[in-house]
Amino acid sequence: MTLTVRGLTVRYGEVLAVRSVDLSVPDGGVLALLGPSGCGKSTLLRAVAGLEAVARGRVCWDGVDLAGTPVHRRAFGLVFQDGQLFPHRTVAGNVAFGLRMAGADRAVRDARVAELLELVGLAGYERRRVTQLSGGEQQRVALARALAPRPRLLLLDEPLSALDRELRDQLAVDLARVLTETGTTALVVTHDHDEAFTLADQVAVMSEGQIRQVDGPERVWRRPADERVARFLGCSRLVSATVRDGWAESVLGRVRVPGDVPDGAVRLGLRASAVRVTRADRGGGTDVEASGEVLRRVHQRDHVRLLVRVADVGEVQASTPFAGVPEVGERVRLTLDPDAVAVLAG
Ligand code: ADP
Repeated sequence: MTLTVRGLTVRYGEVLAVRSVDLSVPDGGVLALLGPSGCGKSTLLRAVAGLEAVARGRVCWDGVDLAGTPVHRRAFGLVFQDGQLFPHRTVAGNVAFGLRMAGADRAVRDARVAELLELVGLAGYERRRVTQLSGGEQQRVALARALAPRPRLLLLDEPLSALDRELRDQLAVDLARVLTETGTTALVVTHDHDEAFTLADQVAVMSEGQIRQVDGPERVWRRPADERVARFLGCSRLVSATVRDGWAESVLGRVRVPGDVPDGAVRLGLRASAVRVTRADRGGGTDVEASGEVLRRVHQRDHVRLLVRVADVGEVQASTPFAGVPEVGERVRLTLDPDAVAVLAG
């Protein structure tokens, strides 16, 4: 029960939206296609669904080429950003739609609808009109509708993007639980790395129509395959470093790196919170720490962002908690937070 895509290319006239992509999703696996807007994620998902013509390559299920299989015969479920529910039907009418198409009798439909609504946290909503639901509830109904006929693959295209941040985080956790509990094999498109990491066990990072890395969430976050992946995942600055025995040494100081990073030259990708600052007058400095002078301070929601001038390096963004924020002009010591540092090949 595996989806495999080989050498898939999709064009819109002159635009190569998907370029020779290979990927596979094993039974029960959840793969996220993650990348910036316009990189070809939706096109790839739509080609898997059978909604876009394939210029080259193959989409196979269990080794069988689906080229001749139309959308409705692929037994794939689809969930889009804006639910696309039937506005004139009740919640139950929406969820039962695929079951009705498959010829399930009424008792079976009703039982399955109740089961699905329970699963997505909307038990008892059968008779509600979908136009009376919040955006989050509508997406839950869309998910229940897609899962009701037990699709062999669920395709989700930015399923949470239309919701506001807090609701999105909650629904992502719920969606991950539903996918796990039902053992659903899924391909999910998102531009949001938090969402990808919450939902997926494998993340495929895309850029300009190509997949640049496929790995587990933690590996993608800590060991991005190249500079483009690192920058997309928030590493705004790269510095050279040398690894020895699990420690990387750079002009900005020393930091622990994952144990499987071999000794030798690497680059460190620094995220916004990677460089931490302590006041130089607070003792305990070591010769492996960098130091600098505070040039500017900006208060943010949960920390203070500093611009620090470091000799031989230049201006460096750093962060510090509200308590004891150093003054402009003060000397500070820098430390690197291993959780906010990625390691790239040198
Ligand atoms: P993503 O989902 O990553 O935002 P898309 O797959 O929607 O990216 O788009 C990939 C590229 O294909 C973009 O350059 C986009 O402008 C182009 N594109 C998408 N859909 C069409 C279309 N129907 N006609 C022409 N170009 C399209």
